[in-house]
Amino acid sequence: MTRPRLATVWLDGCSGCHMSFLDMDERLLEITERADLVHSPLVDQKEYPEGVDVCLVEGAVSTEDDLRRIRQVRARTRILVSFGDCAVTANVPGLRNPIGPEPLLQRAYVENATLNREPPSQVVPRLLPRSLPVHKYVEVDVFLPGCPPSADLIYQALDDLLEGREPRTRDARFGR
Ligand code: SF4
Repeated sequence: MTRPRLATVWLDGCSGCHMSFLDMDERLLEITERADLVHSPLVDQKEYPEGVDVCLVEGAVSTEDDLRRIRQVRARTRILVSFGDCAVTANVPGLRNPIGPEPLLQRAYVENATLNREPPSQVVPRLLPRSLPVHKYVEVDVFLPGCPPSADLIYQALDDLLEGREPRTRDARFGR
């Protein structure tokens, strides 16, 4: 039997959700005995592959590059998980939405800068007008809330998904 293909993706988030993923500690070994981690910031695989079974997506969709990536991830993934509050609600990245991208860039790169006082025009992807949760752009199969979701919650959901069960996505410690 072929092993499930697991991936994780990092969009506009602080990486805290991936730190919580690493907090699964020795349970990571168990996960990697049951599935192949085919793409992640934690492995050296740059291109998102075809035929992924489960993908955890951290972060909101904030830039043109995030949008291109999430559409590609959706097209190549069977079960897409919104991983953490930034992916589920836009959370911290969404705080910039009332300001708008141009005033934000002026504030960060001109008003508060002492050197090279101009917004970046190369390399850095262009901001979208608003930072939005993943499900505003693509269909999401599972919502895994938390800032970050606890390691126990991540393990519980992955355990269920890899066994083909309906995932438990509530953290029993907080009754949510
Ligand atoms: S949900 Fe919290 S921990 Fe996860 S990326 Fe957003 S701010 Fe960081």
